Amino acid sequence: MEVRDKFTGLNSIKFTLRFHQVEACYKYLSDIKWEDGYHCRKCNHTGYCLGVKPHSRRCVKCSYDESPTSGTMFDKCKILIHIAFHIVFRLSTKKKGMSSLELSNEFEQRQKTCWEFKWKVQQAMQSSLNYPLTGEVHVDECFIGGEEEQKQGRSKGKKKLVIVALEKLPFNGVGRAYAQIIEDASNTSFRPFFEAHISKDADVVTDEWTGYIPLKKDYTKLKQVPSNKGKNQPDMHIHIMNLKGWLRGIHHHCSKERLQGYLEEYHFRYNRRNNMDTIFDTLLKRMVNYEPKRLNTDK
Ligand SMILES: [Zn+2]
Repeated sequence: MEVRDKFTGLNSIKFTLRFHQVEACYKYLSDIKWEDGYHCRKCNHTGYCLGVKPHSRRCVKCSYDESPTSGTMFDKCKILIHIAFHIVFRLSTKKKGMSSLELSNEFEQRQKTCWEFKWKVQQAMQSSLNYPLTGEVHVDECFIGGEEEQKQGRSKGKKKLVIVALEKLPFNGVGRAYAQIIEDASNTSFRPFFEAHISKDADVVTDEWTGYIPLKKDYTKLKQVPSNKGKNQPDMHIHIMNLKGWLRGIHHHCSKERLQGYLEEYHFRYNRRNNMDTIFDTLLKRMVNYEPKRLNTDK
């Protein structure tokens, strides 16, 4: 089997040279799509000839013609494919990502179109749930509220409660992190987040809030320490400050559904900050092999 020619690195000149035409983008999608061999989506036959569109494949048995974009997040995309590739490159490789307004200005697309596409990208940025946090894992909650709400008289009820988990590495380092909006600070709300993102044998550290107590049954190493106004979890404090700062900088509306998308986006990049070389390819591959949301956050 042919080895796929993955794009690696952060060099935007190299990126532009490689993907300045739609043809190269279709080839890249096709290489990912049929990386493990071709199977007709209709009849599962493995024989094909070239289809009508660039890099599409036609089943020699039932004549079903499948384009490289069909069934992927690039299907029926309103943005030209090479521009979509550039947007994915920026959103994955720029440290703070880009707002839909910035994308709109740079790529001369309608802001609404950019926002819709970025929303898809955020879906692909969701955790695979395959690598739960391990070792020492700090957990805390915080309130996140948008600017708009403050203008309207700062109703506290509109702020969203977010739970955050952060891996603490030996020698003061930090590893990966995840965050999720929750209904309330109860054990029932905490549990799905714990089960999705934290390994059962992790050394979980929380504050002394009673909502965490029932989790000790499954997370036997869970330890509760006094919060001391956040001073006992300085790395968590910094992480939440950075997250809030980033959110303030790029988004204004703050619906529950949108906020979760931003939390996914932030942590997708954060968790790959030491593997930036392959971050574009990882994200693009997810957009081709996209599976719908596995973690239900909309209750
Ligand atoms: Zn077929």
